[in-house]
Amino acid sequence: SVEILQVENVKKHFKIGPNQTVKSVDGISFSIKKGETFGLVGESGSGKSTLGKTIVGLYSATSGRVSFDGHEFGDLDKKTQKKLNREMQMIFQDPHASLNPRMRVEDIIAEGIDAHRLAKGKERQELVYHLLERVGLRPEHAQRFPHEFSGGQRQRIGIARALAVKPKFIVADEPISALDVSIQAQVINLLEDLKHEENLTYLFIAHDLGMVKHISDRIGVMYLGKMMELTTSSQLFEEPLHPYTEALLSAIPLPNPRLAKKRERIILSGDPPSPVNPPSGCRFRTRCPYAMDICAKAEPSWKEVKENHWTACHLYSK
Ligand code: SF4
Ligand code: MG
Repeated sequence: SVEILQVENVKKHFKIGPNQTVKSVDGISFSIKKGETFGLVGESGSGKSTLGKTIVGLYSATSGRVSFDGHEFGDLDKKTQKKLNREMQMIFQDPHASLNPRMRVEDIIAEGIDAHRLAKGKERQELVYHLLERVGLRPEHAQRFPHEFSGGQRQRIGIARALAVKPKFIVADEPISALDVSIQAQVINLLEDLKHEENLTYLFIAHDLGMVKHISDRIGVMYLGKMMELTTSSQLFEEPLHPYTEALLSAIPLPNPRLAKKRERIILSGDPPSPVNPPSGCRFRTRCPYAMDICAKAEPSWKEVKENHWTACHLYSK
């Protein structure tokens, strides 16, 4: 199938002082196929939100190349840039913080409709009513304010806002992490339904592998600004290669006793090191139970170890 998004050696660094740079995203390459749900997983501070924002153009990359649907970011004419701004949308983690508390739901949902002049007057209003119904809310909700809604309803409003401009691609940045467990499945089901009805492609960001297992076609695992492993969802769960993935997997309960037996529980000690001054060589080495001498000296290269199964680890570099 056709690739809709290509990310080549993308870095996003932030200067935080005269001699200090946070290397939030530090050289990442991958692509997403049209219609795919790509899960991006890592602990907080791994750079996954920064990568998501760089991909939709909310940040411009420090270096590297992002292209969407055949258009390369950076040297686009205004019209194409505007089209991409519309076609690539983002849903945020905290639906409370991402909705303006002083705006009525109607105007929140219509932000993109107004910006891209897609409809006005009665047509705009009907579009908003229709969108509210699509996400499981009601037309009479249009005149209310965000604080009048529950967390799950607010996330539905955020989804309606993204959907309003007829996007092709949505980055969902931990869209269910802030919600009650009982609500999480409802929002996931809504996102899945919308994906099929609207032919969407998703980059779905989560801190927990369990959250993306069932919805993702492929999964990428990030650590301190780098991609550690990337393969299909089933392959990642059946046969993880990278020690960090193994550690993340060992933290989630397994229904399958065959796998549970194979899998020892690996406790990740402490927090990840700072992305301002990441460890030399392999960034995971300070927490890796398999670390060898070479791991401090050389950065492992990003390799396709098996078909469609990529990882960066010296255990597989023979
Ligand atoms: Fe562990 Fe070395 Fe592999 Fe890094 S390269 S994950 S330290 S074995
Ligand atoms: Mg985040």
